[in-house]
Amino acid sequence: MKYFAFSLLVLLLNCGLSSTENPIEKVKPTIAEAIDTGGQSSAPPIRNPQSAIRNLIPDGWTEITALDPTIQLDLRYATANNFVKEKMYDCGRCFYRTAVAKALVNAHKTLQKQGYGGLKMYDCYRPRPIQWKLWKKVPDPRYVADPRKGSMHNRGMAADLTIVDKNGKELDMGTDFDFFGEEAYHAYAKLPKQVLANRQLLLKTMADVGMKHTTTEWWHYSYRKGKFELADWVWDCD
Ligand SMILES: [Zn+2]
Repeated sequence: MKYFAFSLLVLLLNCGLSSTENPIEKVKPTIAEAIDTGGQSSAPPIRNPQSAIRNLIPDGWTEITALDPTIQLDLRYATANNFVKEKMYDCGRCFYRTAVAKALVNAHKTLQKQGYGGLKMYDCYRPRPIQWKLWKKVPDPRYVADPRKGSMHNRGMAADLTIVDKNGKELDMGTDFDFFGEEAYHAYAKLPKQVLANRQLLLKTMADVGMKHTTTEWWHYSYRKGKFELADWVWDCD
């Protein structure tokens, strides 16, 4: 009798369901359904915290890794491995004006088609409050732009970058990033042939997407088209 009652209960619970359906799963909404409907209770819909951060990015700006996650980042000012030997950014994220980000992604893809790993970024948009921090450490316009005048980095128009091979190794450019000296100049020719060829490859690839070089830093390129304002916003790190 006990067995019969139990069987009846199981039969009732399974009523209307095919044998493959689990009655518990049937009444529990999926997370996707809960978001779609705003949830079953009056609780606010679940939000992806990543999208909440991205909503804080001002219009007209793009995080380059959102356009192409294969671009490498080695943002030196987010570490102490830079010429002021101090961490300047709370975290390393790489933003540009959207037109600039698109141009750089095009260059990156061109390099990949040629068998390279693509671009690696050392510095991207640099918010003006960070420019002030740098200026207070090194108030010398030979090394740091005066934040009152600002630089192309403060406009989201300049990129400090290099090329990596298909294994992610940096091509030999003769000096490290932020090496202050004539060895970093484009006109400096007393370098191995391969180094000069690597610099030429970077120069041509950047020129083809509308980025112009500067004479004294092989790694620095800025966008030629248009003019954007100096900017102060700082990205979130959470
Ligand atoms: Zn630069």
